[in-house]
Amino acid sequence: MSATPPAILTGPSAFSPPIPLTGPTLALDDALYAEIAAVMESGLLTNAVNVSAFERLAAEFLEVEHVVAVASCTAGLMLVFCCLGLEGEVVLPSFTFMASGHAVEWNALRPIFADADPTTFNLDLADAAAAITPATAAVSVTHVFGAPADVNGLEQASREAAGRELPIIVDAAHGFGARYQDGTRVGTKGTAEVFSLSPTKPLSTGEGGLVATRDATLAHDLRQARDYGNAGDYDCAVVGLNARMTEIAGVLGRRNLAVLPQWLERRAELAARYVERLRELPGLGFQEIPSGARSSHKDFSVTVDEGMFGLGRAVLAAALAREGIPTRNYFNPPLHRLTVYQAYAEGIALPKTDALADQMLTLPLSSHMPFEHVERICDALGSLYEHRTAVSLVEPDDAAR
Ligand SMILES: *Cc1c(COP(=O)(O)O)cnc(C)c1O
Repeated sequence: MSATPPAILTGPSAFSPPIPLTGPTLALDDALYAEIAAVMESGLLTNAVNVSAFERLAAEFLEVEHVVAVASCTAGLMLVFCCLGLEGEVVLPSFTFMASGHAVEWNALRPIFADADPTTFNLDLADAAAAITPATAAVSVTHVFGAPADVNGLEQASREAAGRELPIIVDAAHGFGARYQDGTRVGTKGTAEVFSLSPTKPLSTGEGGLVATRDATLAHDLRQARDYGNAGDYDCAVVGLNARMTEIAGVLGRRNLAVLPQWLERRAELAARYVERLRELPGLGFQEIPSGARSSHKDFSVTVDEGMFGLGRAVLAAALAREGIPTRNYFNPPLHRLTVYQAYAEGIALPKTDALADQMLTLPLSSHMPFEHVERICDALGSLYEHRTAVSLVEPDDAAR
């Protein structure tokens, strides 16, 4: 690899100014601006023709019966739990984004955190099954970094553990465009799968979410619930939200969806190149994607084994920052370590989640990122490995400078 010393020692930064960690996948052209102008001129600003057209196109893309557009993934998850009218406990991973837990808590359900699988970074099915009790109302699962969780396996494991059918609510925030091992799209399994369309997700409308489901009754109820729960006669059967999608978001959704396949391809190629290069460095671990499955590659994250690499994740992150390479430490703290969930963390031990959270390093990835950036990031990591002894001696205060 590279002989150039890293910036944290004496070398030049790999990127000056720093590159972004991520960015939205966008199809910007005059046709888009014309459509946005047409929305403004129409006077119909929310939940009208563009949103319903986007819902139809998304349902076609996902090969699922119903898609309900909402204001965010968080709101979508909250409304799915609400419409199912659940009471009791929800088993879910701790190694996920905070919103997965918040949707449970907002519905006065009790989150029961289960451990993660260190190879797939997704929910450990055996640990989830072991957390199921007669009080379990549902199980929730996340497609971490866009790699599909085994929802079929989870359905079977939870049925066996509960002795009855449990709703499976999928936080598919990262997963638009991913495919399960059986070739079907993420969006087609569980009771409902809820996507995020916020700017860092593979498909974005600025802010927004989509609920995909095969259940016509649930889809109908969600359409009312996103509109305060108003059944049309100003009577409400549920405590709904204003979770409608705006028409401008609907335009962005339609147009970005049309170009998404080529960008998913590119994300896969960028991730593959990362793996090809970084495999050569000892101590870096990669997310296992089940054979036949496809990730959306929402993020590219590696685990850092300090003993083998010679530098820990935090030192590596500080050194990369000096190279103009931003990183994240997803999902640290995991949910059972969040202040707000301390009441549910007593007496539970999730060692695999703690280890993953401690070791996870998310590297830059976005649809529009040049391949050359991946090469330079890998060069920088190679140089840090090569100079690991000298780098490990840098004072933490100097490292953070
Ligand atoms: C981004 C994200 C969410 C929240 O999505 P919003 O659209 O911002 O509400 C939920 N879960 C996971 C796993 C996420 O990454």
